[in-house]
Amino acid sequence: MENGIARHSPRLATVAVPVPSIGALTYRIPDFLPLPVPGARVLVPLGTRVLTGVVTTTDIAPAPEADGPAAAFKDVIDVLDAEAFLPADVLRLVQWVAEYYACGAGEALSSAMPPRAWIESERHAQITDAGRERLALERGLRAEILAKLADRKPARVDTLATRSGIYAALKALERDGLIEITRPLKGAASAFRTVRVASLTLSEALPKGAKQVEAVDLLRAAPEGIDTAVLTARGISAATLKRLVEVGLVAIHRRKIERDPFDQEAALPAVPRKQVTLTSEQAEAFKKLAALSVSNAFACALLHGVTGSGKTEIYMRLAASVRAGGRGVLLLVPEIALTPAVAALFRGAFGERVAIQHSGLSDGERHDQWHRIRRGDVDVVVGTRSAVFAPVVNLGLIIVDEEHDGSYKQEETPRYHGRDVAVVRAQQAGALAVLGSATPSMESFFNAQSGRYHLVTLERRVLDRPMADVRIVDMRAEFAIHGPDVILSSPLVEAIGARLEKKEQAMVLLNRRGFATVVFCRQCGHTLECPNCSVSLTVHKAIRRARCHYCNHATGIPTKCSQCSGEFLEQMGFGTERIEAEIRAMFPGARVSRVDRDTVRRKGAITGMLSRFASGEVDILVGTQMIAKGHDFPRVTLVGVISADVGLGMADFRAGERTFQLLTQVAGRSGRGELRGEAFVQTIHPDHYSIRHACRQDYAGFFTDEIAFRKEMKYPPAIAMINAVVKSPTREGAMTDAADLVRAMRWGGEPYRILGPAPAPLSRLKGEHRAQFFVKGSHRAAMRKALVSALDARPEIRRRTIVDVDPMSVL
Ligand code: ADP
Ligand code: ZN
Repeated sequence: MENGIARHSPRLATVAVPVPSIGALTYRIPDFLPLPVPGARVLVPLGTRVLTGVVTTTDIAPAPEADGPAAAFKDVIDVLDAEAFLPADVLRLVQWVAEYYACGAGEALSSAMPPRAWIESERHAQITDAGRERLALERGLRAEILAKLADRKPARVDTLATRSGIYAALKALERDGLIEITRPLKGAASAFRTVRVASLTLSEALPKGAKQVEAVDLLRAAPEGIDTAVLTARGISAATLKRLVEVGLVAIHRRKIERDPFDQEAALPAVPRKQVTLTSEQAEAFKKLAALSVSNAFACALLHGVTGSGKTEIYMRLAASVRAGGRGVLLLVPEIALTPAVAALFRGAFGERVAIQHSGLSDGERHDQWHRIRRGDVDVVVGTRSAVFAPVVNLGLIIVDEEHDGSYKQEETPRYHGRDVAVVRAQQAGALAVLGSATPSMESFFNAQSGRYHLVTLERRVLDRPMADVRIVDMRAEFAIHGPDVILSSPLVEAIGARLEKKEQAMVLLNRRGFATVVFCRQCGHTLECPNCSVSLTVHKAIRRARCHYCNHATGIPTKCSQCSGEFLEQMGFGTERIEAEIRAMFPGARVSRVDRDTVRRKGAITGMLSRFASGEVDILVGTQMIAKGHDFPRVTLVGVISADVGLGMADFRAGERTFQLLTQVAGRSGRGELRGEAFVQTIHPDHYSIRHACRQDYAGFFTDEIAFRKEMKYPPAIAMINAVVKSPTREGAMTDAADLVRAMRWGGEPYRILGPAPAPLSRLKGEHRAQFFVKGSHRAAMRKALVSALDARPEIRRRTIVDVDPMSVL
């Protein structure tokens, strides 16, 4: 029946494979394999490779034609799972991601799969005695296979699979008892850590010698068995154990164990739940959200609460109530290391039933955790962006904390936005999505205004603590008095001094790393640039290197100009390293610490630095936007922002929004405890609306101005936008290819506008030239479809093109 004359309908499966930019592929299920369910993993041939894929749909093809289209499909090699590996809801979500973000089905799937799920091949074939006897008698493919296995060593099945029909032949050989097929790595179970456990058998034999007696006594006291490593530690040697097994007294088996990330994770201790009484505002907000959560229907609410208004307390109560109703909870946070407090609070409140996903976990821990969640042993998951795909059973609530945060957007394929995927997941699950922020994204507030989201507002800090007083320091006036080299203004210096005297703490923010941002020659004007990217190199004084912040290229700090050999090289611009140095010089007695990507490279370093600051071992914390996130340091009464305008110069329509968010958030770190807070914002653009509104903590005012700008200039959220960046070894190549795509998308009646192509603001990156164009319009699906078909027609360009749907940055 396997030789092509079968006249019944072929069974087909579409399979997503983890290969860039290809959609789901169709395969035939041979008769000897069970029909896999969607979500099950299968082994499939692709070119010369054998890959693991995930079944997205199965189908019985209607036409049983011998040479119909179905005949062109290759056979699935093996079905790895009897049940869905990926649950149906996650599979559906992944398919939405692939479609919406215009990436390959398998690429989207990769974001949702736990580590070690992609098994290249896991079956081994080994010849039997009967097989050896038949070696000379078989012919064709069967003889070929047996010959390859003649040395009795097991061989991976995919190494035998050099031509079609091999799997049918293997199956037949197995049926005839000539070979054995084993799965030494059977399915997912293989990825769990296993330990060898010894236990007593029912044998009546008597142990010999003192060591054996001792071992048997130990084992008698532990009917569930003892880990052999533990026995060794107790002085029972492997030899003793081996002898006991030989005489039949002891049996050894493997037991699966799970790695508990909390074992090693001292950084995330559970914080015991502190009983607080909700403020009337909090109680009101909770009531509204809880009402939305019990309906089993989709709803999305924006929780707009000023910094320090107690949003976390609301999240926890909401999570507890949804959980009590028997449904699962997902809490997304921008970065666990930066918000360990929230994770620890949830750990304290939900104990064993919470899983915390963070970048410090090993693959093994992540794998075990995924399966715990999948089994339903966990009902609250706290994690970053990719946790949006966690296989939480019966999901009832998704909270996205600090929903405006840029880290929710993945800046590599698939370029999905965790917040937006969360909302879609809630929609598919009939769950409640809560987006929380003191500075909501333009998108979310726009949706709240238009009635698509419920809006829940917290206008006051808890216990009526006042917001910090924010003062603008006009640096143009400072320069007029003290000259152009002044970095720390006199009001800020004075305020820092006062904090040190009162034993209070200060935070100083500058959103730029390094010591100096430009090295230039006073003689010829040449600046030190990255050879791979169109940016200047940043000086990092402590490590004596000039480094590119895009590709990490680094050189020594030159003493002579590479162009004219002039010796007057000047360093300009400054970053956090310089600020730290200035502060140390000005306040020699102060304990200063710096948090930016240079100082927290080492895993876990950031947690240590933040906790030293929290415990008062540090007086002044200098840092980039990393220190602006949701921290709660009650003794901080002063925040200084060095160059509030750093981001405003960027050629990016979100520059104003990002600046507003950063300033509001960092000012919100001040005065959260019982002491009143203050903030100083140094700027040379004191009249810019982002800075003005941030200083007044006036979100509504900012939104009104910003949405007017977006509508006027036709930027999201007023319209939908897709950014396409074509990379090429030459500038002309990038421009020509981009122009080709643009031409293919224009036919006169298109329901969108295309801007460009033009060299990208970062026109060279990592040695490649980049040209970009934008597609703007109100029919996202039509825009995406047009772009995808233009790309499909040019696969060679497609490979070099980044498609960014709803871009967060246009660099
Ligand atoms: P947000 O996330 O809104 O900026 P947090 O949730 O971090 O604010 O809360 C700020 C501080 O107020 C925390 O220390 C929290 O424990 C405390 N808090 C929250 N709600 C209450 C309340 N009802 N009574 C007293 N303290 C509260
Ligand atoms: Zn570079």
